Amino acid sequence: MINVALDGPSGAGKSTIAKRASEIFGFTYIDTGAMFRSLAYKALSEKIQIKSQPQSVVSMLERTNLDIKRSEKGQLMILDGKDITDFIRTPEVSKGASDIAVIPQVREWLLKVERELAGKYDCIMDGRDIGTSVLPDADVKIFITASAEARAKRRHRELLEKGIEKELSEVLEDMKYRDAQDSQREVSPLKMADDAIFLDTSDLSFEESVNSVCDLIRKVIN
Ligand code: C5P
Repeated sequence: MINVALDGPSGAGKSTIAKRASEIFGFTYIDTGAMFRSLAYKALSEKIQIKSQPQSVVSMLERTNLDIKRSEKGQLMILDGKDITDFIRTPEVSKGASDIAVIPQVREWLLKVERELAGKYDCIMDGRDIGTSVLPDADVKIFITASAEARAKRRHRELLEKGIEKELSEVLEDMKYRDAQDSQREVSPLKMADDAIFLDTSDLSFEESVNSVCDLIRKVIN
C-alpha cells in the first residue's frame, strides 16, 4: 500500500488538494478531520458538554459506530448507520471537533480506525498528526500551511458557499482558537514531522498547490 500523510492547520487547503491528488493517482482520500467532527456532532446532539464532561464523551464511544463509505461525492461519514456527512461542517461542530480532539481516549479510538483504513487502501490521509503519530512510516509526508489570514478567507468563502453567513473577523478568531488548541494539546499536537516536506500555499493557486503535491508524490512512488 502507498500511504501519503498530509498534515497542516485548518483552512490550509488540505482537503481540496488531497481530494484532487487522490483522483489523479486513483488513491482513496481519507479525511480524518471528518471523523473527529462526526464524534463531536454526536456529542453535541446528545447535549454533552465536551470540555467539562470528557468522561461522558468516553462512555459515548462505547455505543458509537463510525464508518466511512466511498461515493462519487467523496467520503461519506456513517455514524451509527446514518449518513451525517452534510451536518458536520458548521462552526459549532468545528469547535466541538477541536475540543473533542484533546481527549486521549478519543484519539486512541480513532487511531485504530485510521490505521485499519491505511492498511486497506493506497491513500492520501489528511489530518493534524498523520505523519507524526498515525502513520509514522508513511511513504510521503507533506505539511501544508498558509497564513492565518489566507486560511480564514478561504474558510469564509467555503462557509458562504454552504449558505452559512459569518463575519470574516469571526472566522479568523475561530481559526486562531483551533490553531492554538490543536498545536498546544498534550496528545498528538499539530506538528510537522521531522521527515515531512513543507509547503506554504499562501501565494499559490489551487492548481499550483495540487501540482506541487503531485510532484512530491510522484518523486517517491516512481
Ligand atoms: O480538518 P478539520 O478542520 O476538519 O478537523 C477538525 C478538527 O479535528 C481539527 O481542528 C482538529 O482539532 C481535529 N483533528 C485532529 N487530528 C486529525 C484531524 C483533525 O486533532 N488528524
